[in-house]
Order: sequence, then structure tokens, then C-alpha cells
Amino acid sequence: MAEPARRFRLSRRALLGLAIVGGGAVWAGATAARLMRAPSGAKDAGRIADLDGVPLPQEPDFDNPYYDPSLPWVSEGGTINDVSALSRTPVYGVVKVSEEKHVADALAFARNNNLSVSLAAVRHSMGGQAFDDHAIVLDMMGLNSIEVDEGAMTVTVGPGATWHEIQNVLHPRFAVKAMQSTDIFSVGGSISVNAHGMDHQAGSVVGSVKSLEVMLADGTKVTCSRTENADLFRHVVGGYGLFGVVLKAVLEIVPNAVYQTSRAVIRSEDFPTLFETEMVGDPDLGLFYGHLSTARSNFLEDMIVYRYDKVADAAPADMGPLGEPGMVGVKRLIMNLAKRGEVFQSFKWYMEKELEPEFESCTVPRTAAMADREACLVSRNNPMHDSVPYLFNDLPEETDILHEYFFPRGEYNAFIAGAREILRRSELPLLNASIRVVHAEDTALTYAKEDAFSLVLYVNQRTDEDGNAKMRALTRELVDLTLKHRGRFFLPYQLHYTRAQLMAAYPELPAFLAKKRQYDPRELFTSTFYRGLKAAAGMA
Ligand SMILES: Cc1cc2nc3c(=O)[nH]c(=O)nc-3n(C[C@H](O)[C@H](O)[C@H](O)COP(=O)(O)OP(=O)(O)OC[C@H]3O[C@@H](n4cnc5c(N)ncnc54)[C@H](O)[C@@H]3O)c2cc1C
Repeated sequence: MAEPARRFRLSRRALLGLAIVGGGAVWAGATAARLMRAPSGAKDAGRIADLDGVPLPQEPDFDNPYYDPSLPWVSEGGTINDVSALSRTPVYGVVKVSEEKHVADALAFARNNNLSVSLAAVRHSMGGQAFDDHAIVLDMMGLNSIEVDEGAMTVTVGPGATWHEIQNVLHPRFAVKAMQSTDIFSVGGSISVNAHGMDHQAGSVVGSVKSLEVMLADGTKVTCSRTENADLFRHVVGGYGLFGVVLKAVLEIVPNAVYQTSRAVIRSEDFPTLFETEMVGDPDLGLFYGHLSTARSNFLEDMIVYRYDKVADAAPADMGPLGEPGMVGVKRLIMNLAKRGEVFQSFKWYMEKELEPEFESCTVPRTAAMADREACLVSRNNPMHDSVPYLFNDLPEETDILHEYFFPRGEYNAFIAGAREILRRSELPLLNASIRVVHAEDTALTYAKEDAFSLVLYVNQRTDEDGNAKMRALTRELVDLTLKHRGRFFLPYQLHYTRAQLMAAYPELPAFLAKKRQYDPRELFTSTFYRGLKAAAGMA
């Protein structure tokens, strides 16, 4: 007789185990999917209501808003925010300009109706720099023409053109001379903060600007440059949109050189010597940046120095179009996991140090003339064509805030040691810490009076009051450290500093504000940030 088939039975304990493992797998999968997800829309998490106790919200001084139908309004009333998600501000309305006439007409409309105007582009400056309560916001992104003059080695652009768009036009023969380390920003927004990036020889954006066409508050158009209306030029560049509307910029361009990439892991404390001995005097060092470790075991102690050394003056004429960043979901996941504990921070550092080189994309074919057989070659446009989509996520309850602190080069080790201590104590997750090089810049409200290094930080916070309080406390500590080392902090970020700190870092502020009133007596151009500056200088 056949034996009865044995019935397969799971013990209760095994079942429980399976349920836990299965549930865990589902939870981990859902969490990973959430952390990898691209933004489903712009974040809008409220408003930080003051600068050092000075209230920022203000009441409208009009009763019945009127919207001239000849202007291209895209919103009448409503609110607007910036990339921080923490600057929600009610505005009169938004005009999407796509021709110069729209700008002139909008300024005339504002003058005739006693309204003020703010200029907005990608809105990646934080703290309400591109808008103000009840102001008309001119969205400049539609003014984005791009014309290359090969003979003059210049590109003439509308202020709404982004570096990304400009690179697509310039490639493969030419490249941008100076811009941020990522390409998502508008030219108008970049000029207004005098942005800087990976090319330390080219310096900040101001060094690549040949001339600007600017519309002043009274509607007149003025050309300015280092030699023509030089005083206006020094105020428009790095002038935070307060002196006039940049309508056009003529920018120097450079050949799209071929670079050999390399990276070295060093101790952060050795960086100043490395810079002095091997980098500063090397004319072939095209681009470079340094990333400090954010893992606890070697927090701001180890550093990866990325170099792009020139091996040929021009990229092959048949080079393919510029590619977009790859592995975006994975990179976004790693970034978002790093906010969730030390294990993931260490994993991120391991990825940056060990695995990233394996995935490097070498876009220019090697030839014996250019470099050795193992070399990875790219054109200048490749590393500069990075839209960092992995930095932006779909996590509405949190936001990532940028900081940048400039300090004299001799202060490097003392400054980093101080920053390490402050950031270790903070509960806020530090996602990125990079080192940049800037030169003394002759703009009215310059962030660098002398050649300097800077520390750029990307810090995560919750979008609630507790998150804001922690970010405020951290910022103030870092600003104090910066002041102790005779440095300055970059202004396009959150308004968390005190009025005294602002005045100590920027003693030229009263003169800058007086000039603003000289060029724009009625204060047509405004922003929340502008009102903050005035309050700090006691000129509110
Ligand atoms: C993730 C991230 C990375 C960054 N990396 C860098 C970096 O590597 N280097 C660096 O220097 N900065 C960096 N920044 C800061 C960035 O350069 C500034 O915030 C820049 O202003 C953003 O440009 P935007 O197009 O978003 O300008 P917006 O934020 O829209 O505007 C910025 C300012 O420009 C004014 N403005 C805009 N258009 C005009 C115009 N046509 N005429 C006159 N004024 C105008 C606005 O009124 C405002 O004051 C970074 C910021 C973020 C969020």
C-alpha cells in the first residue's frame, strides 16, 4: 500500500518569520521607491517669517488689483516659492516675459500703479531673493535667445537662457568660460549673484562678462561693462536683481578643450599645500573640485580631489551631443539614504571613493598623442553639463539647504577644524561638503575681498519649525566661525544670519544700499531679501 503523502506544514514560528521577512522586503522596496522618485512638483512648505526678528510678511497697499490685459500674466495674485520650499510669498501676479517690450511695459505698469517689481528665473536663490510680498514678479525664463559669434569668441544671450541650453548650442567646438558647478541656472540669476564654479583660473562669472544691456527702473536701457558705465556694472553683477533688469549679456566663451580626468584621495589638511605646489600655477589644470567625506569615521578629514587636466585644445569636431546624467534613481537613493544614518553615510563615501570611478563616462576617444592608454578623456562641456537631477526628490516633509563660507586661503586648516566641530554637533544631516577656489572680486557687494577658499555645504532639514530652528542655529555658528577667520558668507541662501553678522561680513552694505537708491530712487525693484538687507543696515 502506498504511504499517504506527507502534508507540508509550516510551523507557526516559520510562518511568523516569513511574514516578517516578506513585510520587511515590501517595506524596504516601497521606501526605496519613494526615495528614488523624481519630484512630482515644486515643494511648497510654508514660510520662515523673519530675519533675526524682523518680520518679513507685509500687507498689500492696494485695494483692487488691476491686471493690464496687454501684459502676459501667468498668474493674478497667488503665491510663489523658491527651491528652499520655505519662502512661500503672496505676490501681485506673475508676468512671463518673452520679449523686451514686456519688460518695459511691465515696469511702466508698476510705476503708474505704484507697485514694485521682482525678477525671477530658476528661483534657486533662497530666502525670497526673486520675489517679494505683493510685488509683480517678472519671470525672465522666456527671454532666452542664444547667439554665438565665433570670430569674437562670445555668446550673446537673453537672461533666461540656462547654462544647460547654452552648452547645447556651443558644443562641440566651444564651452562656457565661467558658471556654477551645475548647469541648471539662468544667466540673469548667475550674474546677479556673481556665481562661481569649477574653473578656478577663469574665476567667477563676472570675469566672463564682456558687457550687459540693462533696463533701469525708469525704463531707460543702458549698456555697461568694466569700461562703460563701470559703476553700474559693479552693482548689477552681484547686485541681486536690485539695480535693473539684465536684458542681454555678452559672455566670453572658450574652446571645448579635452581633459584627462583624475582623482586622488588625500587628507583635507594637506589640501592647501597640494593647491600651492601642484595646482595654482598649473595653466593646464582646466577644472577641479574637492569633496570632503561626510562619513562619521573620517568626517571632513578625507577629501577626494577631482582634476581635469588639459591634454588637447579642442575636442574632436565629430563628438556626439552632450549626454544627460545617468543612474539618477540610484544616485538619488544614495543621497536620500545618507540622511538616514551613519551606515548610509559611510556607504555614500565608499561609493564616491571606490565605485564612482568604475562608472566614469569617458566621452573622447583616446589617441596616443593625447594621453596614455589608461586615460579617461572628456571634453570641458561634459563635467560642466550636469543638471544634478538626483539632488531633487519627492519628499515634501524635508528640504536641502545650501551654504557657502569664504575664508582667506591661509585659514584653511583652522576653518575646516572649526566647521568639523560645529557640524559634528549639529543634528542636521550633512549631505555634501565641497571646497572651491575664488579670487578677489571687484563687485560692489563682493564675497571675496582677497583670494579665498570656500566651503560649500548641502544640509538636510525637516520643513517644520524644529528643522528651521536647527538650520538657523547651525548657520549662525558657521557664520561666527567665518567671521573669526576674516571671511564672508554667500548671500543667495537662507536669511538665518543675525543683523550684526550681516553687517560684520559686509561692511559695504550701507554704501551698496545708498547706490541702490541712487539708481532706483522709488525702490521699484525689490525682494524679501532686499527688505532684510535694509533692516540689517538700519535703513528700513
Ligand atoms: C543646488 C544648488 C547648487 C548651487 N551651486 C552653486 C555653485 O556651484 N556656485 C554658485 O556660485 N552658486 C551656486 N548656487 C547658487 C546659485 O548660483 C544662485 O542661487 C543663482 O542665483 C541661481 O540662479 P537662478 O536662475 O535660480 O536665479 P533666481 O534664484 O531666480 O534669481 C536669483 C537672483 O537673480 C535676480 N535675477 C534673475 N534674473 C535677473 C535678470 N534678468 N536681471 C537682473 N536680476 C535678475 C533675482 O532677482 C534674484 O535676486 C547653487 C544653488 C543651489 C540651490
